[in-house]
Amino acid sequence: MCAMSTARLQRSLTRCSAKLSVQLVGRVVIRFVYIFPRFGVGLTLMMNRRDFLKWSLAGGTVLAGARSWAQSQPAERRLKLFNTHTGEQLAATFWANGQYQEGELVAIDRLLRDHRSGDVFTIDRRLYDILYALQQRLDARGTYEVISGYRSPATNKMLRRHGNGVARNSLHTHGQAIDVRLTGVALADLRHAALGLRAGGVGNYPGSNFIHLDTGRVRAW
Ligand SMILES: [Zn+2]
Repeated sequence: MCAMSTARLQRSLTRCSAKLSVQLVGRVVIRFVYIFPRFGVGLTLMMNRRDFLKWSLAGGTVLAGARSWAQSQPAERRLKLFNTHTGEQLAATFWANGQYQEGELVAIDRLLRDHRSGDVFTIDRRLYDILYALQQRLDARGTYEVISGYRSPATNKMLRRHGNGVARNSLHTHGQAIDVRLTGVALADLRHAALGLRAGGVGNYPGSNFIHLDTGRVRAW
């Protein structure tokens, strides 16, 4: 895994929220939560009311800035997906309330199963973050049409035998790759945005009207 690509993706997806609440016990609780694609880190600061007043006089402007910035960030990450082989589609909010939503992720994993063998695999969550980051970059509201998601080793071997040009150790067999197009967005624009994200591999297949995206090294073909 390329550390640099992960760092870039994290920067692109880092969210901050600041919550302020005055509790009945007389304590003021300020909670900053920074959320990264794969984990959440939270910090809760407690102080008494008098200390808080002193602190807020000095730092209130900073807090106000953090709050307005947090309010401008999307609170959810949502994807619309359509499997071109099975005809299944779903709209899933896979990240909300500061964390990944397991039930939604399982539903997406299922939609991206190997449609030949029926095998379901836990897809690398960063792949979903990449898809989300792309639609944000493009200000797109369309549906990702999925040509290929997870591919079992047996299916991959069979496709290789039939000369479909798939790699021996394809990242599709590790749940780290997807072949897609996005409705309402030209394939060239989707590819350009993916290259700009520098979050992993980007393969161009204009003849078949899709691009390949993966969470491997940053590279393009
Ligand atoms: Zn692919």
